[in-house]
Amino acid sequence: MAQKTSTAKSSNWIACVAALLLLGQAAQAQRLIRKAETIPVGELWLSPGDALQVRVLGEPGGQASFLNGQPLTELSPEQAQGVRGVYQGTYQLRPTDTLSEGQPLWLHLRLPDGRHDSLQTAFPVRLLNPNQPLLAVTKGALSHLNYGLGDDRLGGAKIGYLDSLVLLHVTGRVADQYRVRLAEGHYAWSPVTGVRLLPPGGFVPASLTGSWSVRGDSLYDYVRVPLTQRLPYRSQVLQNPTRLVIDVFGATSNTNWITQRDGLRELGAIYYEQPQPDVFRMVLPLRHRQSWGYHIGYEQNTLVVQVARPPAKLRLKGLLVAIDAGHGGTNVGAIGASGAREKDLTLAIAQQLRQELERRGARVLMTRETDASLEIAERVALLRRRRPALLVSIHVNSTGGTTARGTSAFYRYTAFRPLAEALYGRMQETGLPGWGLVGNFNFGLNGPTEYPNALVETAFISNPEDEKLLTDPIRQEQMAKAMSAGIDDFLKAARKKGLRGWLSKQAATE
Ligand SMILES: [Zn+2]
Repeated sequence: MAQKTSTAKSSNWIACVAALLLLGQAAQAQRLIRKAETIPVGELWLSPGDALQVRVLGEPGGQASFLNGQPLTELSPEQAQGVRGVYQGTYQLRPTDTLSEGQPLWLHLRLPDGRHDSLQTAFPVRLLNPNQPLLAVTKGALSHLNYGLGDDRLGGAKIGYLDSLVLLHVTGRVADQYRVRLAEGHYAWSPVTGVRLLPPGGFVPASLTGSWSVRGDSLYDYVRVPLTQRLPYRSQVLQNPTRLVIDVFGATSNTNWITQRDGLRELGAIYYEQPQPDVFRMVLPLRHRQSWGYHIGYEQNTLVVQVARPPAKLRLKGLLVAIDAGHGGTNVGAIGASGAREKDLTLAIAQQLRQELERRGARVLMTRETDASLEIAERVALLRRRRPALLVSIHVNSTGGTTARGTSAFYRYTAFRPLAEALYGRMQETGLPGWGLVGNFNFGLNGPTEYPNALVETAFISNPEDEKLLTDPIRQEQMAKAMSAGIDDFLKAARKKGLRGWLSKQAATE
């Protein structure tokens, strides 16, 4: 009896579940749109002229629309990786358009049998008023501009860092980045967290440039350009001849003279160009082929470029060398098959390098000397404050597989490539195969322009053979000696390269 009741009960239960499943299917059948989204996905702020792109995933064979009847086109399965029911639409926004302020967007789908469905995008869309420019100012010491919306573990390719309180014209937003209009035809992106929006009423950033004051003190050469606002800029050191080129966006020349006072030791025949009405280009030729870095910032609204000179004696003795042991504390880094941890290996090798450099008379600045947690931003802040002659950051490499092995060196700016190259060459002499020299490396510690810097991925912890070397104190010492020799090579090469040819007359008089 008990048995029978149970059977009856369970069959009831099954019927119940089946009914629920059917109901669920019916509900799903009513839902003709499975997904409604903007491309790119995320909160969008748009300006007139921008394209609003949308995509609907739903029942095939229908008519999809948005914004009061703007049609979407259903893609053929070949265009949509074999998927049917993918609709896409683009609408170029006009100044007269209005969007419900900051609301998600409704997307509609109607089938030939009359059934229809509407679904909102997950994120709001806002149309910015071009008659009320939206302005923002940079916040921290590590505010920066990105080329685009890319985002990976290195945080998206950077154009460069900006000083704080630099005025930016925001013309859009995608998810967590603002689009910034720098000048006619020049755009960049800034993380939302890096800036503070200003109340309405401001004008698009612009300034005339004043006349320059150029001079040197006991440590650096300086160029000062008076502006009426803190404008954004971008810089790079170009080669042959070595020169620092800085574009100031929104600036128009009213520089009627460039006074070059005494004390200059690194700057050559400086000048400016105005490649377009709102881009002011400073060209600062350097006397030495090897750049030792520079810093750009503001004093009130005056743009100040501080140009570093080569160390007085291009030798290790007395030189302040910074060593960064990658990771640390809660940031363990990569882990090898035998359990070796990157943070321990980088610290062990960094300490060996320190010993070696100190033995040779150098002064050493370590970003960390213990198993401490230290953010990239804290490391960069320390290094910028102390201004070492150069920096070597030490890491161990890792991949998903076990086959990749060998040593590699990384740099961001071509001006600092010779340091990475010298380190790479010496590391290979320890018997490690060369894995490659990597440029344009978008890593936080390679970002500063203030001093030559390079990152050494000593060897692969993910490769058993390399891991054995990395954990062997004798091999660690070998690597440290190789890096010390690499720094020495870099100094020697800088000494040999010396002054630029076309300035040699000037040099001869020094
Ligand atoms: Zn690492």
